[in-house]
Amino acid sequence: MNLLNFVSEFPDESSCRNKFKEYRERVGVVCPVCGHKEHYWKGDKACYECKHCGKRQSLRANTVMHGSQLPFRYWFIAIHLLTSTKKSFSAAELQRQLGHKRYEPIWYMLHKLRGIMGKGDEQYALSGVIELDEGFFSTETNNDEKQKPLKRGRGSQKKSKVLVMAESQPLEGQTTKKGKPRGVRHIKMIVINDLRAETITPLVEENVFKESIIDSDNSTSYVKLKDIVKEHNPQVIPKNEVGRILPWVHIAISNAKRLLLDIYHDIKPEYLQNYLNEFCYKFNRRYYEESLFDRLLIAAITYKNQFRCNNG
Ligand SMILES: [Zn+2]
Repeated sequence: MNLLNFVSEFPDESSCRNKFKEYRERVGVVCPVCGHKEHYWKGDKACYECKHCGKRQSLRANTVMHGSQLPFRYWFIAIHLLTSTKKSFSAAELQRQLGHKRYEPIWYMLHKLRGIMGKGDEQYALSGVIELDEGFFSTETNNDEKQKPLKRGRGSQKKSKVLVMAESQPLEGQTTKKGKPRGVRHIKMIVINDLRAETITPLVEENVFKESIIDSDNSTSYVKLKDIVKEHNPQVIPKNEVGRILPWVHIAISNAKRLLLDIYHDIKPEYLQNYLNEFCYKFNRRYYEESLFDRLLIAAITYKNQFRCNNG
């Protein structure tokens, strides 16, 4: 959907609200008390009433907009921008474009939607041949750590660790001087606290099919992967060979880093995952551009928002 289509389909608050209601009913309204799925729509109160127990819930309740005071149209604009832009945009930029007084609600809205993007991808398990490596992303040092003296050479920034996996199938019948070219499908990026095998192994187990083959370097972090997948190929990878042996994880890491650097400054470690969610969501759906808006809207209605913020 381009900007002109968006503006003509959603010219005002009521067109957005009506679309939201239509999709909410298509997804199915569920009673939070008894789980019943049939409801009356109380037009005068703008809420659903459970036919079984009488519990009422607002149109926004139990969706991503739960508790939000922002207009439906703001949410629709945010969903449109998140799904139609190749790169991304900051909350400050959106606040400016909307002419909204306060920054926090806009910031919250975007992070909630990025949380939803992550939930959409969590359900997908990778399969086939998978490249696996870790990336190190610059994030802001949090306040308690700022008090401590920094180790030499580290500056004020610290690095957050990210486990990166990419479905990367060697293409049949083709060889180039760089070896067999690989076709990439889905990728995943997961922020991790440390690189211990005890941390990484269960995460890989949750996110890939047992029948998969994993290519990685020979780090001790990966020693247990052979127990959870069909085949694990650890190899010694010289620094200048990484791009050849694990091409897609490294393209993904460098593209994600560039994107974050361009748009955001001082990302707090606890929100890095949300930005990576957006990056992966767009990458993984690069062939579905036409339906991305509807897909994210449906996901936003389906998932009760779990996003929590440490400053309120
Ligand atoms: Zn009920």
